[in-house]
Amino acid sequence: MIDPVCGMTVEAETAAAAWEHAGIVYYFCSVGCMEQFRQDPDHYLAMDPGDRRM
Ligand SMILES: [Zn+2]
Repeated sequence: MIDPVCGMTVEAETAAAAWEHAGIVYYFCSVGCMEQFRQDPDHYLAMDPGDRRM
């Protein structure tokens, strides 16, 4: 699983947070990443992996 916000690899069992969007569950390294994703999921899903910034 890849955290769509920061690009970190996270395991489903150990992820700090999870959020379902459009029928797909996304996992996050932290609640902060989940909160960012919740506010603008399409932005993070459209982002090129090489264009991620911390
Ligand atoms: Zn993250």
